[in-house]
Amino acid sequence: TDSSSNDYDYLFKIVLIGDPGVGKSNILSRIHRNDFNVNYQETDIVEFAQKIFEVQPDGKRVKAQIWDRGGSKKYQSAGFQYYRGAVGVIVVYSITDRASFENATTYWLEELSQFKKSQDDVYRLLVGNKIDLNDKRSVSIDEARQFAENNGLSFIETSALNLNNIDNLFQDVVNGIYNNAK
Ligand code: GDP
Ligand code: MG
Repeated sequence: TDSSSNDYDYLFKIVLIGDPGVGKSNILSRIHRNDFNVNYQETDIVEFAQKIFEVQPDGKRVKAQIWDRGGSKKYQSAGFQYYRGAVGVIVVYSITDRASFENATTYWLEELSQFKKSQDDVYRLLVGNKIDLNDKRSVSIDEARQFAENNGLSFIETSALNLNNIDNLFQDVVNGIYNNAK
C-alpha cells in the first residue's frame, strides 16, 4: 500500500512511550523497513511515520500515524499535546533491561493515565523489544505476559534489528484500536 495515499477510512494516532534506549526510534523507522540504525542517537524532536493498513473483516483502510517523542531527559514529561487524540499507545521496554520493564509498568503507564482521562478509549500494547538478544534476557515472557493480562494490555515481543514481529506489532495495534472502537 502507498503510505502517502490520502485514500483511507480512518486515521489513528498512536504514540510510542518507554525509556530511552529500548528501541522506539528503530521500531518507528521499521514501519517503512528503513535501514536499521546502529548508532544510538537521542533525539529531542517529535517525529512520526504513517502507513496505511487494512483491517479485517471489512477491509477498511486505516492510516496509522505513529508518534515518537525523542527526549534527551530521561523522564521529560511528554505533556498533554503528545497524548492528545491518541487512540493507541505502544509501551516499549527492552527484554535485556530490567529497569526499562519496571519503568514501563509503573512510570510510563502512570504518565499515560495522567494525560488520558478515560483509559477505555485507548488501546495499549506492551512491547518487549530486542529479542535477538535473548541470551541477555532479564525479563521473562511469562512475567511480562502476566503483567499485561492483569492490566488489560496486549503484549508482544519484537526485534527491530531482525524485524521479528514488527509487522505483527503494527497490525496488532491497528486491529486492536479498530475493534475497540466498534
Ligand atoms: P529509543 O531511545 O527508544 O528510541 O531507542 P533506539 O531506537 O534509539 O535504540 C537504542 C539502541 O538500541 C540503538 O543502539 C539501537 O541500535 C539498539 N536497538 C534498537 N532496537 C534493537 C533490537 O531490536 N535489537 C538490538 N540488538 N538492538 C536494538
Ligand atoms: Mg528515540
